[in-house]
Amino acid sequence: MIFKDDPQSVQAFLTDTSNLRTGHTPGIYLPESAAEAAGLLKMEAGSGKRFTIAGNGTGTTGGRIPEGDWVIAMHRLQRTGEPQMLSASEATMRVEAGAVLADIQRKAEDAGWFYPPDPTESLCFIGGTIANNSSGSRSFLYGSTREHVRRILVALPQGDLLDIPRGRYVADEEGFFRLDLPVAGRIVFRRPQYRMPETSKHNAGYYSKEGMDLIDLFIGSEGTLGIIVEADLKLIPRPRHLFAGLAFFGSTDDLFAFTEAARSTESGVRPRVLELFDSRSLDFLRQQYPDTPAGTAGAIFFEQETDPDREDADLQAWLDLMERCSVPLETTWMALDREEQRKLTAFRHALPLLVNEWLSRQEESKISTDMAVPAASFRELYDFYESSCLKNGFVFIIFGHIGDAHVHLNILPRNREEFLRARQLYEEFVEKVAALGGTLSAEHGIGKLKSRYLASMYGDESIMEMVRIKKIFDPELVLNIGNLIPASYLEQPA
Ligand SMILES: Cc1cc2nc3c(=O)[nH]c(=O)nc-3n(C[C@H](O)[C@H](O)[C@H](O)COP(=O)(O)OP(=O)(O)OC[C@H]3O[C@@H](n4cnc5c(N)ncnc54)[C@H](O)[C@@H]3O)c2cc1C
Repeated sequence: MIFKDDPQSVQAFLTDTSNLRTGHTPGIYLPESAAEAAGLLKMEAGSGKRFTIAGNGTGTTGGRIPEGDWVIAMHRLQRTGEPQMLSASEATMRVEAGAVLADIQRKAEDAGWFYPPDPTESLCFIGGTIANNSSGSRSFLYGSTREHVRRILVALPQGDLLDIPRGRYVADEEGFFRLDLPVAGRIVFRRPQYRMPETSKHNAGYYSKEGMDLIDLFIGSEGTLGIIVEADLKLIPRPRHLFAGLAFFGSTDDLFAFTEAARSTESGVRPRVLELFDSRSLDFLRQQYPDTPAGTAGAIFFEQETDPDREDADLQAWLDLMERCSVPLETTWMALDREEQRKLTAFRHALPLLVNEWLSRQEESKISTDMAVPAASFRELYDFYESSCLKNGFVFIIFGHIGDAHVHLNILPRNREEFLRARQLYEEFVEKVAALGGTLSAEHGIGKLKSRYLASMYGDESIMEMVRIKKIFDPELVLNIGNLIPASYLEQPA
């Protein structure tokens, strides 16, 4: 097992993209196999050592940042197998946790297959995406990571290696799971009894549904129940053809009418991506792309998969929809070939970079939301975000996955006073979203940054249901403590 504790190596593991600056660790373990990862946990059981799991640090919530714990990093678990065809419509690919998502996607595509999950930052490790049930723009059509994982291998906190193919462990009628493990022995527990919000994406707290599969408890549990060391991914045939577009709107009402119609099957369009840029996001982008139309209410980016023989009809359906929603076609950007699509993708990805550049000239961190609500309540939340920020005189942008009723509001404070006011406003947003039946996190997870807000969404008793499950798998509380479940709840008797 490789171990590093020199200052330069340690420094690289003290950050992610959250701006949290509390990281410190005595050292980094880099297992080179699943057995080494499990063996480390088994060997250290009872030693009092705690561990934080590190993926590639693209997370936004401080999840991989150790606050005094030792780090177990996935960087040496990088092997990927070849896609294995299971039928004309499905293949599978075995990958280790530290394989980079972009490499996996490329390998699948080179073999004629497709791995749909696409969080914008593709340098993340596959293990990180499974631990966080990551989604992103294509989740409008394809759902989140959990829908694309057939099996995981997990190193449990006491040192067991548990193989979880989908279908092997399913909750019984009363919601109980029963497992016999070599080290931990017999484990019996019940799935949480809370109902998850009826949003199209949800990634805050342990998954729970009637008849659920054990694999879905681990997916999205943010490394609190075990280390995902290996996975079998589900691949589908690579789409034959794609087109994309960016439609600019004169009014917010038209923009919302367009989104609503594009989401419905009756409109004749079949988007796989529906993404919002509000007018302020476009103002940022205009610095780098001066051709971006000015004076609009916002824009929607869309992508649709198609076949060459259907493409004209599919394109016409979008043009008809745009006309119905008063989109001036002369300002619409269409991308019909790969080169044009690459340029549009670069345009989309430029936004976080421009915002980060702006922030680097300020002294404060941004306050950003990752909340989602049921689609019927989305306009109410959007208007609340906008009016609250305008009332406070903030610099802010709203962008993201509008197809899933899930956008990111970024407030960009110019001084400490604005930062404090924005943080207070964040609490109002949490309350508003809870009242609308929404979720605190649709995709980025809770990590360390947002755990203090989890009780507002769930209430104490539901958090204690999560604590009970955490303690069943991790009785000595050694793994990813401080992530997801607020630490104060772990101190209470379960
Ligand atoms: C510009 C930008 C855009 C983004 N856009 C999206 C988006 O659209 N959708 C989206 O969902 N996310 C998005 N993200 C967030 C991020 O990319 C994902 O959360 C990603 O899955 C994290 O992977 P990672 O390997 O970097 O994990 P890390 O940041 O290293 O870790 C994240 C968490 O997962 C745990 N973890 C990591 N690996 C494992 C493992 N093998 N087993 C158990 N636990 C583990 C860590 O302990 C930590 O709690 C974005 C991030 C950036 C910077």
